[in-house]
Amino acid sequence: MSVNQSGWRPEMGDATTNARTTFTGNRALMLEEALIFEIGSTETTGVDIDEVPTVASRLGNHARTSPIGLPGLSEPEAVRHYTRLSRQNYAIDLGLFPLGSCTMKHNPRLNERMARLPGFADLHPLGPIDTVQGALEVIHQLAHWLVTLTNMDSVAMSPKAGAHGELCGILAIKAALEKRGEGHRKIILVPESAHGTNPATAAFAGFKVEDIPATPDGRVDTQALKDRLGPDVAGVMITNPNTCGLFERDLKDISDAVHAAGGYVYCDGANFNAIVGRVRPGDLGVDAMHINLHKTFSTPHGGGGPGSGPVVFSKALTPFAPLPFVEQQDGKFVLVEEETAGEHHADSFGRMVAFHGQMGMFTRALSYILSHGADGLKQVSEDAVLNANYVLRSLDDTLDAPFGQSGPCMHEALFSDANLADGFSTLDVAKGLIDEGYHPMTVYFPLVVHGAMLVEPTETESKAALDQFIGALRSVAERAKAGDQDLKSAPHFAPRRRLDETLAARKPVLAWKDALPTAEAAE
Ligand SMILES: *Cc1c(COP(=O)(O)O)cnc(C)c1O
Repeated sequence: MSVNQSGWRPEMGDATTNARTTFTGNRALMLEEALIFEIGSTETTGVDIDEVPTVASRLGNHARTSPIGLPGLSEPEAVRHYTRLSRQNYAIDLGLFPLGSCTMKHNPRLNERMARLPGFADLHPLGPIDTVQGALEVIHQLAHWLVTLTNMDSVAMSPKAGAHGELCGILAIKAALEKRGEGHRKIILVPESAHGTNPATAAFAGFKVEDIPATPDGRVDTQALKDRLGPDVAGVMITNPNTCGLFERDLKDISDAVHAAGGYVYCDGANFNAIVGRVRPGDLGVDAMHINLHKTFSTPHGGGGPGSGPVVFSKALTPFAPLPFVEQQDGKFVLVEEETAGEHHADSFGRMVAFHGQMGMFTRALSYILSHGADGLKQVSEDAVLNANYVLRSLDDTLDAPFGQSGPCMHEALFSDANLADGFSTLDVAKGLIDEGYHPMTVYFPLVVHGAMLVEPTETESKAALDQFIGALRSVAERAKAGDQDLKSAPHFAPRRRLDETLAARKPVLAWKDALPTAEAAE
């Protein structure tokens, strides 16, 4: 590949349909950026180091036999490279982020202030207990509020994401069944609309997954679920509100039936944002539920992290919950690291992580909960639901809303591709939105709706911001309905056009290989 010194490549010019190209490939403040290996070279170095005196190697056969192969860049070159890349990201601090099943809400800066206090930010996980009392108190207080908000018996704070929390809950169910001598119960029932992590978690923990169909109104088919219960069923995993953006009204009835048949109820609580302060999952018979702190209780979570997925447990599952947990004894906070016979967690299944969980996120979540208060949290869920319904009703004359007839939605508005022109798809609408300056909504999920478009505005958007988004989505949808061919090749204004996303996901090229022909790179 030909790369000149500034990293410019001739093919960069076709990043836009505008016939005007620039020498650099940059378009004013939209800066083109080559790969770091194309900018730097393994032959150069960014630092001057004096010649190292020859000393006898003490590495034995561990000495490196080939060059390390890192590109040499000076500090400003390295900083500019990553800053330029970061400017090509979309972020919640730039604009509305409509991803459904994600709760991308504004993270109040107060949380950041709290998380950065040196007493929390600079802790070492092995610090002596006497020196970290404040941090343990934060974990203990947050645990208290999570248990209170869900009306459950206990909470495991250590899981580090929603999916990790699911595994934690399912392992507790497994331990409880084994303790009862019913380890032969191998089936976990999962509704068709579930997030992919649910069946993946159950399978990973050694269970067999069976699908439960949905009713035409987008909810779990309660009768089909009840008919499947029996001595081989370990439990169910149900998301509430579900991924069609609807409240599972029968959950209490389902829980009673599952318990009567000897199984446990796992609730995927990723959508707790829509019901926090209004509904307590413990009242619905749930045995275990993860809470995505990074969704319901703010914390920025783009790009895969950080996450935190505490799991609340019913009385029945508490003895099997993982270690460690924080307890208050004689006015002091202690970390309980071992099972204690006859006490809480007497039959703990073990540990999920080496230490205690995500301290920075605990601090943010507690700051969020305390600054909102009980009335504020109630308002969060009300406003989130109001905003989603505003989006649903503003667009259901343009886009098909498959469950629009079943009444109001919860926190997300779901549309399908049913009335786009022939040859036009959800993907075209999503790509068109990029040109309008928005990250696309969640597409092709949930799977129960053809060409699904799932929009979750959250409570932190104003009416003006929603109106602008609605206007943009309406405009793109109308182009897709009118068969505007120009939309088939959108985005036109992004640094890259349509990528082969399947190839990039299936065969990602994650390491620089000098010899690789350019065409093979997942670009
Ligand atoms: C986000 C989400 C998960 C997974 O949570 P992570 O923190 O990303 O692991 C699971 N289920 C649902 C419904 C979700 O929205």
